[in-house]
Amino acid sequence: MPDRYAVIGHPIAHSKSPQIHTWFAQATGQDMVYEAIDGGAEPGGFEQALHAFARHGGRGMNVTLPFKLQALAAADVASDDARAAGAANALRWQGGRLQAQNFDGVGLVRDIEVNLGQPLRGKAVLVLGAGGATRGALLPLARAGVARLAVLNRTASKAIALLDELAAHLPPALALHSGGTDLLPGLPAFDVVINATSASLSADAPAVPPQAFAPGGLAYDMVYGKGLTSFLRLAQSAPDVRVADGVGMLVEQAAEAFAWWRGVRPQTEGVLKRLTVPLV
Ligand code: NAP
Repeated sequence: MPDRYAVIGHPIAHSKSPQIHTWFAQATGQDMVYEAIDGGAEPGGFEQALHAFARHGGRGMNVTLPFKLQALAAADVASDDARAAGAANALRWQGGRLQAQNFDGVGLVRDIEVNLGQPLRGKAVLVLGAGGATRGALLPLARAGVARLAVLNRTASKAIALLDELAAHLPPALALHSGGTDLLPGLPAFDVVINATSASLSADAPAVPPQAFAPGGLAYDMVYGKGLTSFLRLAQSAPDVRVADGVGMLVEQAAEAFAWWRGVRPQTEGVLKRLTVPLV
């Protein structure tokens, strides 16, 4: 019997995780199946589906919206990244205990540094947004050695509260800014600007002046499959800025989860090539 894995979310039909993990399993020769489970909109639906999956031999799960917070709450043990993010995107059952991880931030850093060839050590990084995706990215960005980190959000108070909460887990030498996007004209340019808002889902762009992008830098939209988003188009109006969407982050966090479950890290280049949509 192949080992069972799944992604759980609501809605879930759009998820690329079953395809990604099936490709990884084929490439690494792992005897496993991977399905998509809709946790539904009813209260308690996620927990019921989680326990039913475990009872039927489930070994691990990816978790997507809107269940990432509940996944952390359901776990017996959680990694530092999951606790800092306040959310889990991967679970596994081991020795009768449910373990939680959050690989979104690690996936982001690996995509920027390895796939896009942009080392983060010593760099100035701006993260736009103060939701779950930003929360998950901050510790991994700090571990990558960024020198200056700004978290700016449409609602300034949320960015300030987020950095206040996580500051104790960040290196003391890291220069931090938090507040509203209205602070941008007063700040020096950033080598990497990451859009971790959901603005691109509605074709909006956070208000970023072209001077915020340092020449030779990278503009990264965490959203994927939307082509050239308003944010990436805005970034292109600045001189010499490379643009990327979040498909590599998706694939790299999947590879981290796969390695955590199976003890073998799949190659990601081929899968990334298959899923990449031209940014036009
Ligand atoms: P979230 O928790 O709902 O946070 C949304 C954030 O976007 C908030 O800071 C919100 O600001 C801001 N926002 C929403 N609409 C805006 C607008 N029109 N203009 C400016 N700011 C706006 O969402 P999330 O879970 O952090 O996800 C954020 C994005 O990351 C989504 O697009 C998601 O698809 C993407 N993501 C991608 C991956 C991947 O693997 N590539 C993984 C995780 C997430 P306020 O606080 O002012 O409301």
